[in-house]
Amino acid sequence: MESVTHFEQVIASDDPKVWGTLASCKGKPAEWWFADKYNTQQGKEFTAMAKRICRTCLVANKCLQLADEGGEAFGIWGGLTPKERGFKRMTKQF
Ligand code: SF4
Repeated sequence: MESVTHFEQVIASDDPKVWGTLASCKGKPAEWWFADKYNTQQGKEFTAMAKRICRTCLVANKCLQLADEGGEAFGIWGGLTPKERGFKRMTKQF
């Protein structure tokens, strides 16, 4: 019988409360992902920091899918800004 590890169960889950436990942003300041003024220097620095962290995230695809399904208009999800997600959606790169 093939055994499934706890990690495999978590990463395969469709429940954000479960796969979210693997999120690289866990415990980090939410304002880095929701810098509401992208045109300020601080907003750009927060956004760059969030995107760097998202690049290390094991559940980035699930995060991006969740944002798309929820029509999220704000914040960095799956390492992408709202504008970048809109472009991906238009070109059906999900
Ligand atoms: S991809 Fe999503 S879950 Fe992962 S660190 Fe970025 S915002 Fe958090």
